[in-house]
Amino acid sequence: MARGIEGRAFIGGKLTDSASGDVLTSYSPIDGRPLAEVASCGVADVNIAVDSARAAFQDRRWAGLDPSERKRVLLTFAEKIEHHCEELALLETLDMGKPITDSLHCDVRATARTFRWYAEAIDKVYDEIAPAPTSALALITREPLGVVAAVVPWNFPMIMAAWKIAPALAAGNSVILKPAEQSSLTAIRLAVLAAEAGIPAGVFNVVPGYGTVAGKALGLHMDVDGVFFTGSTEVGKHFLEYSGRSNMKKVGLECGGKSAHIILSDCSVLDEAARAAAEAIFFNQGEMCTAGSRLVIDRRIKDQVVGMILAHADTMQPMDPLDPACRLGAMVDETHTERVMGYIDAGRREGGLVIKGGGRANPVDGGCYIEPTIFDNVNNSMRIAREEIFGPVLSIITIDSVEEAVRIANDSPYGLAAAVWSDNVNTIHTVSRSLRAGVVYANCYDADDITVPFGGYRQSGIGRDKSLHAFDKYTEMKTTWLQIR
Ligand code: NAP
Ligand code: MG
Repeated sequence: MARGIEGRAFIGGKLTDSASGDVLTSYSPIDGRPLAEVASCGVADVNIAVDSARAAFQDRRWAGLDPSERKRVLLTFAEKIEHHCEELALLETLDMGKPITDSLHCDVRATARTFRWYAEAIDKVYDEIAPAPTSALALITREPLGVVAAVVPWNFPMIMAAWKIAPALAAGNSVILKPAEQSSLTAIRLAVLAAEAGIPAGVFNVVPGYGTVAGKALGLHMDVDGVFFTGSTEVGKHFLEYSGRSNMKKVGLECGGKSAHIILSDCSVLDEAARAAAEAIFFNQGEMCTAGSRLVIDRRIKDQVVGMILAHADTMQPMDPLDPACRLGAMVDETHTERVMGYIDAGRREGGLVIKGGGRANPVDGGCYIEPTIFDNVNNSMRIAREEIFGPVLSIITIDSVEEAVRIANDSPYGLAAAVWSDNVNTIHTVSRSLRAGVVYANCYDADDITVPFGGYRQSGIGRDKSLHAFDKYTEMKTTWLQIR
């Protein structure tokens, strides 16, 4: 077994084994080999982490600093992330299988940028004075929630964590992060770097372990003020229940999606649309909440566009994720690989026609790989059109009108993202206003920046990550009346 990759929890400013001594083994999906033993935290560890976060919040060792001082520390943290970019990228790729080039240029950079952006915001966001009656001064101020838990998935382990931790820390909270069991290594490393940057002990804790144990303990804890979750819709609903069963803690949810990628016949850049359609489903092995997993395409242009998508798929065959040329890496683990293969079987059984891929691949022995897979002849009632597959599997649904495209796009329990390609600005406006989705892309897909809110309608979640709106999640709003004498 590889030795030396840190797998201990980070609680109260120190690396620590779990109280029970229990560990879970992290395997690399690249070749199936064990990577590290990771602390498997239980209720006792969560209790210690919450106590330590509460103590840090109570004595205001972080929340009480001047905004310019919190900003300085978080900027130092962002610099450290950049300084350790190769190490963090390698850990991420080894642990969850994404292409090393993406880890380096997308994940680590976006993580550093997220911390930098919220650090810069701290001393630029003002509170409010209400236009109340002149006999009084009514102040509307934002205060940190207190002890904030973040429970995150494995598909973008660092970025998903940063979207929550950066605004939470910037606002002055103490944070406890529960990474996914498949991808704890970068979370632990980030906590160590944060401490080196000057984040005080107890302010940023990491409790790796199982969701049903450590995640649930955070959700049910009576002294956690808010829990912010990214993951599946099914588990997201558990957090609402945990909150109701415990202290009515604030809950934020970023959950699944089944996003429609609509290409209309008046689109003049079909080559661009085809490239975007392939990237939208095959980037990150399709392990993307915003994956454009339903291609909703006008019959008149379908054959031409699908031909181009097939050609793009050829250039995205699974490779060793450590090869800088890799564009489609390993699936996160064997269980998830089998789950995705189960959907491919279901699609075949329900009458979908596989026109590309459909099988496992083996670029590295012992690893978890699936070919880019495309189904034609899909109707929107099939499981592969309704359920989130979270793999490189595209379902093509053919339409004959704009109205039909919108109806099908909206016929989903989810509402995370959607896209429309058209040359007509009126059509774009009409369609984008009709789409029940938190993010709409017009003539592009997966445009992204920390400056814009991100999250979903319907069962894709509650609340928004990113942008200054994220502060709404991590703060309480207080009204203070000052009577003028
Ligand atoms: P998941 O199974 O829902 O797990 C997410 C997190 O919740 C993990 O840390 C997990 O721990 C924990 N968890 C699992 N069961 C729990 C329980 N009963 N109580 C408390 N915590 C529990 O999701 P995933 O498989 O890691 O990630 C894929 C999902 O994430 C997809 O549905 C995807 O759409 C969604 N996602 C959404 C967004 C977004 O922003 N909307 C972004 C990325 C991903 P374990 O690791 O131990 O299971
Ligand atoms: Mg792993």
